[in-house]
Order: sequence, then C-alpha cells, then structure tokens
Amino acid sequence: MADFRVSVLLIVLCAIAVSVESKYMVYDTAQGVVKGKLNVHLVAHTHDDVGWLKTVDQYYVGSNNSIQGACVQNVLDSTIQALLADKNRKFIYVEQAFFQRWWRDQSEATQEIVKRLVSSGQLELINGGWCMHDEAAPHYIDMIDQTTYGHKFIKQQFNVTPRIGWQIDPFGHSAVQAYLLGAEVGFDSVFFGRIDYQDRNKRKGDKHLEVIWRGSKSLGSSSQIFAGAFPENYEPPTGFYFEVNDDSPIVQDDMDLFDYNVQERVNDFVAAALFQANITRTNHVMWTMGTDFKYQYAESWFRNMDKLIHYVNKDGRVNALYSTPSIYTDAKYAETDSWPLKENDYFPYASDINAYWTGYFTSRVGLKGYVRMLSGYYLAARQLEVMKGRNKAGATTDSLGDSLGIAQHHDGVSGTSQQHVANDYSKRLAIGQKEAEVVVAESLACMVSSKPGCGSLATSFQQCPLLNISYCPPTEADLSGKKLMVVVYNSLGWKRSDVIRLPVVSENIAVYDSSGKEVEYQLLPIVNDTIALRNYYTTAYTGKSPSSTPKYTLAFTASVPPLGFTTYVISTTKKQASNSINEAFYKHSESGKDGVEVGTGNLKLIYSGSEGTLSQYVNSRSSINIPMKQSYSYYAGFDGTTGEQASGAYIFRPNGTYSIGPQTRTPITILNGPIYDEVHQKINPWIYQITRVFKYKEHAEVEFTVGPIPIDDGVGKEIVTQITTTLKSNKTFYSDSNGRDFLERIRDYREDWDLEVNQPIAGNYYPVNLGIYLKGDKSELSLLVDRSVGGSSLVDGQLELMLHRRLLYDDGKGVAEALNETVCVGNDCRGLTVQGKYYLRIDPVGEGAKWRRSYGQEIYSPLLLAFTEQDEKTEANFQVSTFSGMDSSYTLPDNVALLTLQELEDGKVLLRLAHLYEVGEDKDLSVMTSVELKKLFAKRKIMDVSEMSLSANQGREEMEKKRLVWKVEGSKDDKPTTQRGAPVDPQKLVVELAPMEIRTFLLTLQGKTIPRRLVSSDLIPQ
Ligand SMILES: [Zn+2]
Repeated sequence: MADFRVSVLLIVLCAIAVSVESKYMVYDTAQGVVKGKLNVHLVAHTHDDVGWLKTVDQYYVGSNNSIQGACVQNVLDSTIQALLADKNRKFIYVEQAFFQRWWRDQSEATQEIVKRLVSSGQLELINGGWCMHDEAAPHYIDMIDQTTYGHKFIKQQFNVTPRIGWQIDPFGHSAVQAYLLGAEVGFDSVFFGRIDYQDRNKRKGDKHLEVIWRGSKSLGSSSQIFAGAFPENYEPPTGFYFEVNDDSPIVQDDMDLFDYNVQERVNDFVAAALFQANITRTNHVMWTMGTDFKYQYAESWFRNMDKLIHYVNKDGRVNALYSTPSIYTDAKYAETDSWPLKENDYFPYASDINAYWTGYFTSRVGLKGYVRMLSGYYLAARQLEVMKGRNKAGATTDSLGDSLGIAQHHDGVSGTSQQHVANDYSKRLAIGQKEAEVVVAESLACMVSSKPGCGSLATSFQQCPLLNISYCPPTEADLSGKKLMVVVYNSLGWKRSDVIRLPVVSENIAVYDSSGKEVEYQLLPIVNDTIALRNYYTTAYTGKSPSSTPKYTLAFTASVPPLGFTTYVISTTKKQASNSINEAFYKHSESGKDGVEVGTGNLKLIYSGSEGTLSQYVNSRSSINIPMKQSYSYYAGFDGTTGEQASGAYIFRPNGTYSIGPQTRTPITILNGPIYDEVHQKINPWIYQITRVFKYKEHAEVEFTVGPIPIDDGVGKEIVTQITTTLKSNKTFYSDSNGRDFLERIRDYREDWDLEVNQPIAGNYYPVNLGIYLKGDKSELSLLVDRSVGGSSLVDGQLELMLHRRLLYDDGKGVAEALNETVCVGNDCRGLTVQGKYYLRIDPVGEGAKWRRSYGQEIYSPLLLAFTEQDEKTEANFQVSTFSGMDSSYTLPDNVALLTLQELEDGKVLLRLAHLYEVGEDKDLSVMTSVELKKLFAKRKIMDVSEMSLSANQGREEMEKKRLVWKVEGSKDDKPTTQRGAPVDPQKLVVELAPMEIRTFLLTLQGKTIPRRLVSSDLIPQ
C-alpha cells in the first residue's frame, strides 16, 4: 500500500516537473525605470463612462449588452485577480461611482485584499471623482462637489489621496480643471486625450504635448500643474489591444505551437516606442494600455504585457515597465527641470476640419437647466441641513449629491448620452431632489417654530420645482378664508431683494410681510401660450394634469437676510381690485408707434412699435444710450446622408444660417406695473419671448420659450439669439471657464498656433456657464445665463447664444443617436420645448464685473421658496418669521461667496469660501478681503478649524508640502508671487481671501444654529 502510494506520488511529481520545465515560464516583470534608456511606461487602465450608451447601473451589472458589451463588475473582479497573480502588475481606477458600487458588494476578505493592493500601489485610484466630469457644461461648484464626494470615499476606505488628474475623454479642457480641480486638489499632473487636431500637430512637432499649465491668471504659478496631452487618444498604440476579442496579434512565445512571433512583437513595440519618443521630451513615454470598458477579462491584457515587458527588456533597445501616471509623473519630474508654459484652456476642441465639438455646449439644454437648478438647490439644502443638524436616520442631501455627481459625467450634463440614459440621469436627480426637499422642509419647519416637535409642521411645507412653468399647487389653491405662508430662504451670504413670481387664480389678493404690513405687488395675466405649455409639461412630468388654471402671475419683492429666511403671507381680500388689476397692471399693445419706452427705473428699453423690435438700451444713471437689436436665427444642421460629418450631439456643423422673424406682423405687447414691465413677443409659432425690465434693477431679463423645433422639412435646426450693438469689440470677447474665470477669446484666432479656419461659426463657439461679454471703447455688453450653453461673438458688437438644438442625424462620434428630444403625454409626443432665461446689461467699460459677479451668484442661487397654508393649529407653531444663520449685523463682503456649508457624517462642518474676483477685474473688489468666522457662525461656538485642500481630503499645508514644484521654461524666477490669504489664527478666526482664492475648512462646532426654542436675539429687527 505504502509503496504504491509513494510511486504514484513520484509519477505525479515527475509529470509536474516535466511540464514545468517545458511549459511554465516565469516572466520578469519587475523592471523599474532605467536611466539612460527610453522607458515605456505601460499604464493599464479602463475608461468606464458613468452612463453613455447604457445607464450607470446597466454598465455596472453588465445588462443591456445588445447596446454595448460592457460590465464594470467584470472589470474590477478580473483585475483584482490579475493583480494578485503578479505583484509587479499595476492598474489604475478612476470613476468612484462605479468603484463604490463594486466595493459595497465585496466581502470583508476581498476588501482587505483590495486595501493591500491600494497601499502597495498596485492598484492606484486616480482622479477619484464620482465621475470623470465634463469640462464644458459643469459649473465649478459642481466639479468641486463631485470630486469631493469621490475623494471622501477614497479617503475613508483607503486613507489615500489621489495625486493625478486623469481627464482622458472630455471634449476639450478647461482652465478651471487645470488650476482648481488640478493644482488646488493637490494633483501633481493631469493627463488627457482630446485637444484640437491642429494644436496637437504643432505640439508634436515642437515636443510641446507636455506642458506646465497655468490656468488662472490670478493665482499664476502658485496654482500650476504638469499637463500631458496624449499623442493620439487614450488607447494603446495600434496593434497592442489585448481584450479577448481584440484582433491585435497576441504575443505567442510557445515554440511548440505555430505562429511564434516574439521577435516581431518586440520589433513592433520598439518601433512604436521610438515613434512616440520622437514627439516627447525626456526618455519617458506613456502607453495608455486600455480604453472604454476594457479589462473585463484582465488576464488577457496582463499576460501579453508580462510577455512584452520580459522580451522587450531582454532585447534591450528600450525599457518596458508596469507603471502608473504617478510613477510616470515622478520620472518626468526627475528628468527635466523646466517645461513649456500653457495658459488659458483647450477649447474649443476639433478632431477634424469639419468636426468642431461645440454643439454639446448646448445639447440637451433642458437637462443642463435641471442640473444647474439642482446644483443651486443642493447648495441651499446643505446649508439648511447644517442649521437643523444632520439627520442620522431620516432624509439627507446625500442622494442629491450622489445623483448630481453622476450627472457631471462627460456624457451626462454634456448632453452626449443616449436618450434613455439622459432619462436615467433625470430620474436619479428627481429622486435626490425629493429627498432633499424633505431636509429643506424639516429645517424650515424647525426654524419657523418655537416649539419642540417642529417635525410635524415639515410635512405641510410644499415646494414648487415646476414654478418656472407657472405650476405651483399651493399658490393656485383657493385661498378664501385662509392664509398662505411663503417662506423665502436666501442661501447667499448677503442680504438680498428679489422679485418673486407666483401663479394665482384670483385677483382678490394681498401680500403681507412678516410684520403684517401690506407689501407692493403686481398682477400680470398669464398668457395662453404659457398655460398650454404648463399644462402639457406638468402632465408629462407629474403624470397628472393640473386641477386648476391660474389667471395671474403675482409678483412682489422679497427682502431676505443673508443665510436666512423671511416669511410673507398671501391672503384673499374683499376689497375689489383696489390694489389689483386696474392699478397693479394694465396692458396695451403697441403697433405703429416708435420709441416706446419700457421700464420705470434707471434702465429703459426702447422699442420700435412699427417694427415690433428692440431699438435702444438706455441707462439714465450711467448715461448709457446705445442702439441695440435682438434677433433669432437658426443654423440648419448639416445632414449625414452623404457620409459627411453631420451636426449632432457632439458636433456643431452648420449648413446655412436662416433668420427667424415674425411671419406675420404681430404687435409687441407691453404690460406695465409698479415692480417691473414685461414685453411679450411671439417671434414665430414656436418661439415666445418675454423681456422684463425691473424698476430697481439695471439689467433686463429675457425669458425664452423655444420649441417644438419643427423638423417636418427634414432639416435639423440649432436656434440662436443675437444681441447686436454698435460697440467696436475688435473681434474680442470674453467667456467664463466653468463659471469661474473669464478668458479672452479672439475670433478666428488661437493663442497657441496659427489657426486654419475651416468652420468660421462652429470654430468660434465657446462654453458659457456664467456669462459672456464684450467691450467697446466706452461700454461693455454682458449676457449672463441660467444654465450652460454655447456662445460666441461672430460679428463685432454682437453676442450670440445657442438656446436649443434638434437634429436628425447621428454625428458619428459614438452616441449612435440623433439629438432629437421629444416629450410624450400618452401617445401625444412633441419635440422638446425649452424655457430658459438670460440676462443682459450694458455698463461703462471696466464696470461690468460687479454685476456679472454678484448677479451671477443670484442666478446660481435663486431664492428658495416653501409654502404652507396656515390655520389656527399651525399659526401657533409659526412664531419666527425672519431669521439669519449669521450674526444679525454681519454680511459677507461683496467679493466673497459661500460655496459650501455642509455637515459631514462625522458631524464636522465643511466650509468653502471663494473670492469672486480676478486680479484686476474690478477696481474696488479685486483686493484681499476677509471673513469673520465668529460672525458667520454667530450661533455656534467654533472649537476647531483646519484648512484643507479643495476636495477636503488632506490638510492644506500637508498638500503644499508634498506637491511637486514645476518650473516653466525660460522663466527666471518661478517663485509664486501670487497673493494668498494668511493662515487662520485660531483665536481671531478671520479668513483672508486673495483674488480668485477658494479656501476650504473643516470645522468642529458646538451648539446648534436653531436651538429648540429660538430666543429673541435670533430675531432680526425689521
Ligand atoms: Zn468617456
């Protein structure tokens, strides 16, 4: 028995020994950087879109594979196994919305293994936001929030801080990405794939693909970053794709089998490496080994890379190694002491002579509007969450943060996903919004109530997310015998007055402030076009048609303290129309008369009644009197039937410009009132416009309703509006970078290369998030927007915004759908109608910044409204009618905004303060300023303050200490000369802010903003 057993064992052992000798091959993959040789850094990566052709969840679980065979779960499962098989293998992972989904599915044992892989550097989490955000359509506050969300998860689970930016796929790159979401979050470098093809060609020739990117003029070299554009895209060199179904030749090194090809593959490798070395500085090149949703069977990639590293290094001509962007960055840093300088941004992006990726600046402009609206709401809701105290068990704002984070993806708010995915983003946003509404209602209820148990009042608070289309059930209710309380919350750090507009059913109405004084108001009739739109879209969005029809818009001015609320009461009144229709508004139509003046304050718009058009902009205070015209036109979208580049979700390719004018002469209608005047213009059957001129504001508000864009002629259309003045702007205009810095744009010109103009319209389009302006000799014309759109100045003195687009062909860039949005109620489907606003103003030259910056904040953070009917029971609970979370005598300086006030899970409070002005932007406000934290948190005691990096995942000082200091070629002294606020003294607790500086703090606070019972000192004197 025993002998037999031994012999069997021997036979087995021999068999293994034979097979090991002849088959098993140990590849030497341990090679690191070798000095003096060309080092090829193999960076294994997968690019996982957080929604695009499939939804984020479909991508994660791997469903809906008939659209795209992609499963992120497979990617992560198989990559972890492949990393465990060889400790030299490395991998990077980027999108935390996916990683977090996977992480919470893992056993503790797997989580431990992954933690070890992260701490050993085999698995490196880079970029680290919830998604890889777009760089054209997101607002910088959204970019900060979604990056913070991802970085927080990484910090909590792995105690690491990502140090590399990886924006490989967004369609052009913003200045804000470089300095704010790059240098200021502590990144040492940022890499990307898409820059203009002309720019790329020049940079290849000059070896300028890798640069020091200085995105901010104000922060200069103190906020610069090493930036690498890839030679082609973010894929491997041709012939080095190794997913199981890719057709690159695998490395076949088994001599017993046919097709042995080691030497050929080594030669291919060396050739591709030398080619790249020719256009790259230093002895280091990076190969991005992977692309969209690759590594679903990771071993296939790693097996081939193992062999390549082994045989290429044996060959010895070049050195191949497993690497990551961090290792690559350090190697670059070690090798050369200075790099070419790049300023401003990489917009617009063209991939070919007719492929300008400037259409997506406006694509899905309805979704863009929804994202922006919720972005401002999220900011306000988090403030209210701080005041109330974070709910441990109930509703939080987290789900809204999560869905907003996902929506910032470069196929989300960019408008370049398929329709079903766009619907998924909206659905997630709506779910997050619903939960945040609960937080808002609870917090407001506790603030207005002086009694414990304020929660019961919360349920009676209603909010009106469809107020923009005049749908608001609480204000449309029959108020006879009742009072409607309107709680108005201001999330800005300044006191503010703004006009509130609410749909109501009756003219027998009155408005009272919190002291019971009647306030001035006006009633404007709601026109039939508005009602039809409201009814259709309310039914589409809520599933039921509205039960009432409002007759009027009630408008009054609300005045609200900073970070606080005030209440107004609307009630019915018997006094027949004494202060309503006859005096509050009247209506007349103008036809045939010229020089019709609109506006009763400093600003007046002059219309030509005979033409039905705007003719003059007058500000009596600033002595501005400038001829002005406003017009609409459309670009016919290039069709794709001939195989040529079509206009589509990404690409703007116009095929002719057509002006849009009234087809029949319809007179303009003017409604006058004590608060503002309205000019109604039905431009054509599918464009309606209302221009508002307020008595106490010096800008005009233009509300446009565009759609359904007709396509029955078989032509897709992109609708634009132009404001035309006589200002001599000399080809120059300014557009913002993600709502932050303004960058100079010159028509048909690029700073970095001699532009060959192929698309004179599309090639001059830029993203507009905050605004766009131009200057003449004496005045400047500014437009501000309520969401992200595309804009330009194609003619001197004229600004243009693209408001909506509906197209009939796919543009061949991957989405595989035409951008043809429809909305259905039952079987009644219509092209999407979009309603939005822009704001326009002319200032003396050099004086426009004040309005752009401060009103820009008001647009981003509109007053938040909550309604509740008051009866005897609730009246008793309603004792605090006005409140500020700050010291009642305090206000933030005019040049400071509160970007974030948020209670984290551990009870700490995250605070971000931003200086709103660039160096030199305004003669008074572009200066060092300061915020007194003791007054900002007047009702709580500040126990501890730590200054953090922008994404709050590390101490600011620690971040500064470890950050690489890059040098720019040809500059004598690269020591930052930029002004920055001094460290915060823990006793004084004053935060200094230099122009464009954003400072982030974690605070430990004691006490509550809203005590159980508010005391009289919390009340603000009227
Ligand atoms: Zn992508």
